Amino acid sequence: MHILATNDDGIDAPGLLAMAQRLRDLGELTVLAPNRNWSASGHVKTLHRPLRVWEARLADGIHALTTDGAPSDCVALATLGLLDRPVDLVVSGINPLPNLGHDVTYSGTVTAAMEAAIAGLPGIAFSLDGSDRRPEDMDFEPAARVAETIVRRALENDLPQGVFLNVNVPYRSWEDLRGIQVTRQGLRVYRDALVAREDPRGRPYYWIGGEAPSGISEPGTDFGALQEGWVSLTPLQLDLTAADRLETFEAWQGLLG
Ligand code: MN
Repeated sequence: MHILATNDDGIDAPGLLAMAQRLRDLGELTVLAPNRNWSASGHVKTLHRPLRVWEARLADGIHALTTDGAPSDCVALATLGLLDRPVDLVVSGINPLPNLGHDVTYSGTVTAAMEAAIAGLPGIAFSLDGSDRRPEDMDFEPAARVAETIVRRALENDLPQGVFLNVNVPYRSWEDLRGIQVTRQGLRVYRDALVAREDPRGRPYYWIGGEAPSGISEPGTDFGALQEGWVSLTPLQLDLTAADRLETFEAWQGLLG
């Protein structure tokens, strides 16, 4: 089995190292990650500039590759022929912040798993609810063990075609994790605020600031599971059709002008 590991925090991120160390015994592991932080970059396809790839090493000496492309570009590079051997599974993470509810549309971590689904491969995104801890100070080991458990299962049982997994781990010791709860996407509550200032030359600039987002901790959702100490596993798909709303638009059909 050939596993591709990537992330959106960059090749030097401690979450990637912890995950790679846990996964490298499960099969052949290729690490290909961006050379900078792409957090909250959304789903990217770099078409208007060349992509470069360099040899790299993780902090413990694991051989890796790095690129100036986005997380989804890493998956595209790997699956379109950069690597000698075909990839069987794509993992992304471990992100130091959770990716819950609507976050999945912003998250570089999740879009790497999304890109895997587009390539017809199983993809799994891992995120840890590190809150306001600094990534350098965080213990990624419990989340890395979760990643190992889930990747093992994904290798044994094929994921349905087009489905990718969004896994979020509460910040707890391995012993204190209650287990895996299969969830649906919850509701994020963003508390963004626009900060308008002036640069030293008197020109205005804007910063999307505000408080950290919260969420609705409804049972059965990713938020609810995380809140109660469960590992949240949400199966996602790329079909965003509002299937239960198609009827609402029936009368629009056929009319022009
Ligand atoms: Mn990130």
